[in-house]
Amino acid sequence: MSQEFLACPRCGCLKFYARGDAGTMVFFQVNSEFWPVPTGINASDLSQADFSPVHCTGCSWSGEMNDLAAT
Ligand SMILES: [Zn+2]
Repeated sequence: MSQEFLACPRCGCLKFYARGDAGTMVFFQVNSEFWPVPTGINASDLSQADFSPVHCTGCSWSGEMNDLAAT
């Protein structure tokens, strides 16, 4: 069973970050249900993160999770 992730609408990157508690960067991917999933590198607590906006790790894009593109 494979999980589908949403991609950056500009560069197609699958990894994003947001600002967490105390301004830390938390890294995650977003699944097809628009739900953030922590990446292996940094399994930070996403519960305190501000996902508006989310930032792409591959380019300078940032925006709403709803703007992400299906792969
Ligand atoms: Zn991008």
